[in-house]
Amino acid sequence: MKINVIGTGYVGLVSGVCMAAKGHSVKCFDTNPDTIQILKSGKCHFYEKGLEKLFVEYSDNLSFELLDASSEHKLLDCQVILMAVGTPTVNEKIDLSQIKTASKNIGKLIKNHDKFISVIVKSTVVPGTTDTVVKNILEESSGKKIGEFGLGMNPEFLREGNAVEDFMNPDRIVFGYEDEITLKYLHEIYSPWDVDKIIVNTRSAEMIKYVNNSILATLISTTNEYSNIAKSIGNIDFNTVMNAVHLDNRWSPIDKTTGERIYPEIINYLKPGCGFGGSCFPKDVMALAALSKEIGIKSLILDSVIKVNQLQPKVVLEYLEEKVGSLEGKNILVLGIAFKPETDDVRESVSIKLMKYLNTQRCNITAHDPISINNAKKIIDFDVNYVKDWKKELSNNDVIIISTNWNEYRELKDFDNTLENKILFDTRSLFNSNEFTNINYININ
Ligand code: NAD
Repeated sequence: MKINVIGTGYVGLVSGVCMAAKGHSVKCFDTNPDTIQILKSGKCHFYEKGLEKLFVEYSDNLSFELLDASSEHKLLDCQVILMAVGTPTVNEKIDLSQIKTASKNIGKLIKNHDKFISVIVKSTVVPGTTDTVVKNILEESSGKKIGEFGLGMNPEFLREGNAVEDFMNPDRIVFGYEDEITLKYLHEIYSPWDVDKIIVNTRSAEMIKYVNNSILATLISTTNEYSNIAKSIGNIDFNTVMNAVHLDNRWSPIDKTTGERIYPEIINYLKPGCGFGGSCFPKDVMALAALSKEIGIKSLILDSVIKVNQLQPKVVLEYLEEKVGSLEGKNILVLGIAFKPETDDVRESVSIKLMKYLNTQRCNITAHDPISINNAKKIIDFDVNYVKDWKKELSNNDVIIISTNWNEYRELKDFDNTLENKILFDTRSLFNSNEFTNINYININ
C-alpha cells in the first residue's frame, strides 16, 4: 500500500520504517527541515536500537519529504495518511495544536481531490478527539463529509528503547474506524502481522491506549507509595515484601506442564523506584485526568497517581539524606540521564528531576549518559558537568547515583575494592545489596 506518514518522531519514523520493511511504500513528512535533512542523508535523528539498519535496508520502500507549501500536494499521493505528530501537555491538558494543524492541512488538500483517502490518527489523543476534533476540521476545511474521505485511529504501544521489536512483534493491534473503507485499509496495512486485532470505533481505540498506560502508571505509583510507607515504619525488608507479593499466583502463575513459575514483565511495574518518566506516561495520565474533569467526573485515582509520581524523586533523595546526612554542597555523580536505557530521549526523565533537587541543595553535579547528553543540554538550565567517561569521575565524587539502568553501569562492581566507603545510591535496583562489600551501597528498597 502507499502510506504517507505525517511526523517523523519516535512513533512516525518507527511506524514508517517498519511498514516499509513489511513491503509498503512509505513517504514520511515532517515540518522540521533539520530532521528531514538528516533522514535524507540516510541517518536517524534520534537513537533507537535497530532502526537505522532497517531503514537503510528498506530504503527502496522509503522516502522523506519536508512538508511545506511547495510539497504538501505530495501528501495526497497515497491511500492512507497516518498522523503521528506530537500531543504534548500544556497547562496539564493535552495540546492538540499539532493534530489540528495537520488535519486542517489535509482537509484543504482533499477539497479538490477526487481520490478517496483515509486519515488515520496514530498519535495518542484523548477519547473523542478523532470523531469530533479531527473529523470536524477535516469536514470544514475540505467541504466534504466523512464517507468521501476515511477516518481511523490506530494507537501505538511501542516502548522507546525496544521500539522496532515492539512494532514488528506487537502483542495486539487496535483498529479504530469510522468507515468501512478505512477498516479495509487497516486490515491491508497490517496483513503481514499475524496477531490479535481489536476492531472498535475510534473513541474506544483512543480509550484502550489511555487505560493501558494509566493502569501501568497506577501500579508504579502504588508500589512507590507502599515502599515509602515501609521506609517510614522502619526495619522492613521491602525488597522481600515485594518478592513475596510477586509470587502470588495471579502475578506469577506456575506453568502446569513444566511446573516452572512464569515471571511476566508486569512484575517490573511492581518494583519501587523514583517514579515514571518519559514522553508518554506522565502526559497520558494527566490528559485523561484533565478530560475526566472536563466531563464532570472526579479522577481521584489518576490525580493521586500523578501526585505520588511528582513527589517521588524528592522523597527518594530525602531518604538518601536520612541515610547519609545532608547532600548540601556535596559532589554528586549522576549515572544516566535518559528516561530509560537504550534511548536518548530525556523528556520527563526522572533523572533530570533528581538533578533539579540536587541543584536546589547546591550540590556539584556531574552527569553521564552514553547517548543522551546532547538532548539533556537542550533542556537542563542549571550547572551540570557532563562527562563522557564516568569511571574517571568515581573517585572525585562523594555520592554516586544510578538514575538510569544502563547495562554498562553494572561495571561499578569492578570498583568495589577501590571505592571503599563511597556512597552508591541505586534508584533502579541495578544491583543487590550483597554485591558490594566496601562501597556503601544503598538501594531504593
Ligand atoms: P515526537 O515529538 O518525537 O515527533 C513528532 C513529530 O511531528 C516531530 O518530528 C514534529 O516536527 C512533527 N510535526 C509536528 N507537527 C507537524 C505537522 N503539522 N506536519 C508534519 N510534521 C509535524 O513525538 P513522538 O514521541 O513520536 O509521539 C508522537 C505521538 O505518538 C504522540 O501523541 C505520543 O503520545 C504518541 N506515542 C508516543 C510513544 C513514544 O514512545 N514516543 C509511544 C506511543 C505513542
